[in-house]
Amino acid sequence: MENLFIDITEKKIFDVEKIRKDFPILSRLVHGKKLVYFDNAATTQKPKQVIETIQNYYSNLNSNIHRGVHYLSEAATKEYECARKIIQNFINAKHLEEIIYTRGTTESINLVASSYGYSNFKEGDEILISAMEHHSNIVPWQIICQRTGAKLKVIPMNDNGEIIIEEFDKLLNEKTKFVSIVHVSNSLGTINPIKYIIDKAHRLDIPVLVDAAQSIQHLKIDVQDLDCDFLAFSGHKIYGPTGIGILYGKKKHLIEMPPYQGGGDMIMSVSFEKTIYNELPYKFEAGTPNIAGVIGLGVAIRYVNNIGIEVIEKYEKELLDYGSSLLSDMPELKIIGNAANKASVISFIIDNAHPHDVGTILDREGIAIRTGHHCTEPVMRRFNIPATSRASFSFYNTFEEIDVLAKSLKKVINLFN
Ligand code: PMP
Repeated sequence: MENLFIDITEKKIFDVEKIRKDFPILSRLVHGKKLVYFDNAATTQKPKQVIETIQNYYSNLNSNIHRGVHYLSEAATKEYECARKIIQNFINAKHLEEIIYTRGTTESINLVASSYGYSNFKEGDEILISAMEHHSNIVPWQIICQRTGAKLKVIPMNDNGEIIIEEFDKLLNEKTKFVSIVHVSNSLGTINPIKYIIDKAHRLDIPVLVDAAQSIQHLKIDVQDLDCDFLAFSGHKIYGPTGIGILYGKKKHLIEMPPYQGGGDMIMSVSFEKTIYNELPYKFEAGTPNIAGVIGLGVAIRYVNNIGIEVIEKYEKELLDYGSSLLSDMPELKIIGNAANKASVISFIIDNAHPHDVGTILDREGIAIRTGHHCTEPVMRRFNIPATSRASFSFYNTFEEIDVLAKSLKKVINLFN
């Protein structure tokens, strides 16, 4: 893959303009203006390496995997399994079979809630989540609580949008059977102290799932170092295609867990009397999967690796600090989510202006932000607001783009005040 750095003497300098050329969509106009894409927490744009890989897959390789003995099927299977290895290395999973392909974070969490939860929870058990969860880390647990009689408990947060860790300590007890926690909040940007949470839960032998939908693209994740039991993320938030996601699970759990869905590929043998399930990871991969999506995700992760996740983290922090300082200088604007430890997400409200109006006005300037409750209605309720506007940055964004945002926000403020 192409070198994405300019080498000046020994020092590597992050070349954002060179990176931007890899993302075709970033050079398009919207309403006659240069696109400023600040909706990265909803989904990220795709580099041409990913787009071309998908096109090449359908042009030259398209075939069903695992079943054929012909050339195309074997070649597609090889690429499909090679992506699993890339993902294993990326999160440092101990075993290849701990990487399960799903449709996304949502399906990964549903898989665990349904398979692990249904076979392990009973009346009176407690499942712990936090007050800043995305709906996809609330509703699957509510469903399984309804089925099993377990109870959902919620770790509260403070006015900065940080988990109150003493409350977490208090909520953990012998009735707690599972903790499911978001690593980075999509609506507040808060980075949660997941290592502390995992260590503390493990002292009582309680497994922990980490929702990494908003952290996998920003922070280095090492599942062995974290020692989490499960980790879920979506391909489309890390520069890969939609419709593909990952569930990492510790082998000891995955072996014990019953299948989530039945069908082709997840079986070793089937008769009307008895079906023997396939080995890991295939036990959890029923039916023809998103083959192009998997291969595209592998390339997306190689792209991220090529820049370096630590380099990305550092640059995005600079963007966050710059954006936060410009926006905090506007008295009519209030940032929602002021955690000490944040990823590159800024949620805000503006006096007298509904977030939807803010979003619509910015759209006319070519700026894409997200407005609404961001699938975190309880967060909105906690802050007593109906919605926020949210700008979320990626490594392909620039300081100049943040200037454009700040300038347009000043116009909005003048208009409504
Ligand atoms: N969790 C968090 C924190 C998210 O931000 C999202 C997506 N907005 C999800 C879960 C769900 O991801 P997906 O829709 O890709 O399954």
